[in-house]
Amino acid sequence: MDVDEHAEELASALGVDKAEVKDDLENLVSYSVPIDEAKQSIRRKHGGSDGSDATPTTKDVAAVTPEDGNVTVTVRVLSVGRRSIRYQGDEQVIREGEFADATGKISYTAWEDFGFEPGDSITIGNAGVREWDGDPELNVGQSSTVALETDPVDVPYEVGGDTDLVELRAGDRGRNVEVRVLKANERVIDGRNGETTIREGVVADETGRLPFTDWEARSELREGHDFRFEEVYVREFRGVPQVNLSEFSTVTPLSREVAVEDEAPRMRIAEAVGSGGLFDVELVGNVLEVRDGSGLIERCPECGRVLQNGQCRTHGEVDGEDDMRVKAIVDDGTGTVTAILDRDLTEELYGGTLEEAMAAARDAMSKEVVADEIRERVVGHEYRVRGNLSVDEYGANVEGSEFERADDDPATRATELLTEVRS
Ligand SMILES: [Zn+2]
Repeated sequence: MDVDEHAEELASALGVDKAEVKDDLENLVSYSVPIDEAKQSIRRKHGGSDGSDATPTTKDVAAVTPEDGNVTVTVRVLSVGRRSIRYQGDEQVIREGEFADATGKISYTAWEDFGFEPGDSITIGNAGVREWDGDPELNVGQSSTVALETDPVDVPYEVGGDTDLVELRAGDRGRNVEVRVLKANERVIDGRNGETTIREGVVADETGRLPFTDWEARSELREGHDFRFEEVYVREFRGVPQVNLSEFSTVTPLSREVAVEDEAPRMRIAEAVGSGGLFDVELVGNVLEVRDGSGLIERCPECGRVLQNGQCRTHGEVDGEDDMRVKAIVDDGTGTVTAILDRDLTEELYGGTLEEAMAAARDAMSKEVVADEIRERVVGHEYRVRGNLSVDEYGANVEGSEFERADDDPATRATELLTEVRS
């Protein structure tokens, strides 16, 4: 299209004189204004819309960005989870989960009941896009339309929300899991509606174990029983995903037995870190380094933070309390984690009590001798660390509940020997 044609189109769209539009266009273009921008400014001049709030564009899921105001998408409903929220004083049930098409997945929140269910193929007109944690999310509300499609949308994902525990991530909604209850007990908490009884504990499946909270305190969730939970959601609790059962969740006894290991599942570090946080996992790797801030340390008596040169980050100069800990970097060739060991485990590694460590530090006139002693013992050796794994932007940490030499372990030795013989 040349300027003349653009002017013709614009003039008839705006119902104004073509010559005038053409003059304006030519003028703008001569100042190197791109033709689309020039047309928009002329539309605005004549009171038309500038085109930015025009009909939402139809997009593939993978092409939706937080910069999109509104979009139209044709998708398969992967999961639907209900949640009741308090909105402007009223209790309201919203629906959350994931949609997908052939190009990708996207989370959504539906503020009304549009009646769609997992497996349905639908076209959503005028879905709002907002950003959540750096990713786009769809808002389906009053101004959106939902139409059922007769042709199913093919998706390279599991439809329906069935998930292994190891795959669960904080923020997941409308998930189904099949688990054994390993631990369960009731607790009374101060909830938003006053005192509330909840049930909490630990569940496990073939892939791992996670803490759970049942906000309805269902008494049948007892140790050693196997269940299918439907419509659970996942929150992060101390860096670890936690399975939550709400009033909308259903609990059905399983006819099959869930095969659960007594031991924490042993995983590759990369796999464990990739899961975003795990409850009670076992990792084995070489200790590359015992980090600064290990050995003898001082903690703030107010908040327990480790002091730097006698200073607490929050409370300033305080009279620190002596403690011991180890921060060890463990590497298994696929990735690294920092194992954080408390006083008991550190005393074991050091081979002496806190008092003995203090005495050694006084003799040497340096606290570093304690950390050095620990370094001497552990760096370069293979260790097995068990505990809760949390992952954040600063890295992956395991709060160690066990920390033991693995290269002395006869089973590991035997495997290594076999590998040597075979190669
Ligand atoms: Zn403090």
